[in-house]
Amino acid sequence: MRRSRTTQAFLLLLAPAQAFAWGEAGHSIVSEIAQHRLTGHAFVTVQKLLKSELDPAPAGPVSLASIASWADDYRSSHTETTNWHFVDIPIDVKGIDPKDVRYDAARDCPPETSSSGTCLIKAVATQLAILSVPADFNNPADVAKHAMALKFIVHLYGDMAQPLHCAEREGDGGGNGLQVFYSGPKQNSVETRTNFHKVWDSLIIGDVQWNWNAYVHDLEQKWLKGKDETKLASGSVIDWVNQCHLKAVEAYGLVSRDLTLGQQQLSQEKAIADEQLATAGVRLSKALNEAFSAYP
Ligand SMILES: [Zn+2]
Repeated sequence: MRRSRTTQAFLLLLAPAQAFAWGEAGHSIVSEIAQHRLTGHAFVTVQKLLKSELDPAPAGPVSLASIASWADDYRSSHTETTNWHFVDIPIDVKGIDPKDVRYDAARDCPPETSSSGTCLIKAVATQLAILSVPADFNNPADVAKHAMALKFIVHLYGDMAQPLHCAEREGDGGGNGLQVFYSGPKQNSVETRTNFHKVWDSLIIGDVQWNWNAYVHDLEQKWLKGKDETKLASGSVIDWVNQCHLKAVEAYGLVSRDLTLGQQQLSQEKAIADEQLATAGVRLSKALNEAFSAYP
């Protein structure tokens, strides 16, 4: 046993503030899968909005992946958007089986007056409402507002699929306060001490494939092959966050009692990540295609 329960409890007390995202690779993967599925009209509208921010506008296309992590930079100078990146539905609610805990707005989504902003669910609703009303391309301020909403939606659809952005246990801030011993495929059994949130943000993806585009290719050829994408994209944001929470229950359950995450557990965590990244991409494409269908 690597760590006693007492030490584990102590480490949990050190839980820092919630971190903010898949790493850049995760967000790029989600947005690239979405871009593959954009209608021609939606793609043209995306280009108009994204190029409106670049002077001079490039001749070639601008990818969704290139702006997918923008919201994580933005929050550092706009703390009122801090809570937009997650919705921490607790796993440990007294008297309820973790698998049966569902999103509760009063418990999980801070009021609008919080200086750190509300939660992911309300932020998505607000930004999607902006995006769904066609931009006035003769009005630069209106175009800027829509370009910003697009960047938020691309990012937040990724965050809402990261299990540790949909859950926390014992107030650990989505695994930020859960120290684990990680031994990934590139480490030749050498263990690194890190936190569980970081494993999910970057290490599961980064240790398999440095090249995120190759990860996308892999998901397209394997996980997404033959799947009913209409079914994958059905449901509401609240449904998806509840599904994400269930994945978090699974993900936490894979951490062994001695807090190690070896290669066997990591391959199981990666299977969860594959499903979450792929479905988020499909859902994002649907949201963008629907929003831009009303544009001229
Ligand atoms: Zn984020």
